[in-house]
Amino acid sequence: MTVIGIDDTDSRDRGMCTTYAATRLAESLEAAGATVERTLLVRLHPAIEHKTRGNAALAVHCDADPGTALDAVSDVLALAVTDDDQTNPGAVVADPAGAVPDAVASFAERAVRQRCAPAEARRLCREAGFERVTRGTGRGIVGALAAVGAWRAFEGWTYECLSYRRQDRWGTPRQVDRESVFAAAADHYPEVWDTVDRVEGTAVCVPRTPGPVLHGVRGETPEAVRAVADRIESEPVARRRVFVTNQGTDAHLRARTLSALEDGGCYRVDATVVSAPETREGGHVFLELGKPRPEDSQGDLPSQSTGDSVRAAAFEPTKRFRDRVRLLRPGDRVTACGEVGDGTLKLEKFAVRGLVRTERVTPTCPDCGRSMGSAGRNAGYRCRGCGTTTDGRVERRLDRELERGWYEVPPCARRHVAKPLVRGGFDAPTHPER
Ligand code: ZN
Repeated sequence: MTVIGIDDTDSRDRGMCTTYAATRLAESLEAAGATVERTLLVRLHPAIEHKTRGNAALAVHCDADPGTALDAVSDVLALAVTDDDQTNPGAVVADPAGAVPDAVASFAERAVRQRCAPAEARRLCREAGFERVTRGTGRGIVGALAAVGAWRAFEGWTYECLSYRRQDRWGTPRQVDRESVFAAAADHYPEVWDTVDRVEGTAVCVPRTPGPVLHGVRGETPEAVRAVADRIESEPVARRRVFVTNQGTDAHLRARTLSALEDGGCYRVDATVVSAPETREGGHVFLELGKPRPEDSQGDLPSQSTGDSVRAAAFEPTKRFRDRVRLLRPGDRVTACGEVGDGTLKLEKFAVRGLVRTERVTPTCPDCGRSMGSAGRNAGYRCRGCGTTTDGRVERRLDRELERGWYEVPPCARRHVAKPLVRGGFDAPTHPER
């Protein structure tokens, strides 16, 4: 099998899109008589999502001979807008006789979780004997090689059916019938997910960027995503292709302890809430997470002197997710997931592991019902009016609205690679957003 990896054909201005380039590549290979076994859409490290919109790399698995593949991919890269200095496409053609080497598979794994250097990608290509084509700075070689290694590197794939617009319509408002999107999404949920956000009322599958994509439907099987795409009423669809993808898999998250978090990484980390969530300007919610406390301790906060703490945030675009985060209290035990940037863990989802059920409050006087005052250091409490005394604070039961289990950002705020709770396989009950 010949594997062709391509990356970074996105142009911010002209509306190209790497998935479109891969679709054109697959079509031209098929027109030349080759059989395309699958097209792979690999989401790489999400921290640079904002730079190349979704940071996608693509691979076409086919039976074309390497020479034909090289010609075809060179033609497609020429389609990429190379006079845009933000577009630096790269392609790799992997030899059909050899298996993908371990080093390339592990490169793919890393490329999903952190930034990788073009120099390393070039070296690995040389060592593996892979052909490469690049334009501009050739930065696209990183994603192209990662896309080649992805099939070996990852397990657990999902599907996306991408439908494309006619070129004369690119950049104009998309004509998509909202009702048909919501109806199809409802009928095929949860096999198909993140098609719409029912609370925000948005058709999440319809992009707002000026590119060639009309809509992209994500789900568990090729049949289901295609069925939903077929039911969406819209302007003419110029072409359509189903991709196998690592979207919706949490492939980016690594389990780490609080003290091991680094800027630029994406993590799953056990922690204890240290400070009450605080809503700041812009509607962003911040809280401090500290070292996890043992399960049987109730409400005793971890020491702040260790330095093992991180600021966590639920930003305004995560919408109603922030309401869940605001319900957390100091002492709650959680597992938090997200990317760390500027020393802040940007929450994508979290699991409630243990909730603080009581709080210690200043006692009230049994005689007059007024709040008692401190009787002095280590001397308990005393009512000024009645003179009654008591030893210390009293416990009061807390009503908690959160439950044990996982909470997530809504579909409108989902990163491509993040796994929706409705997909299952989580280690606690889930509270899916749809
Ligand atoms: Zn009193």
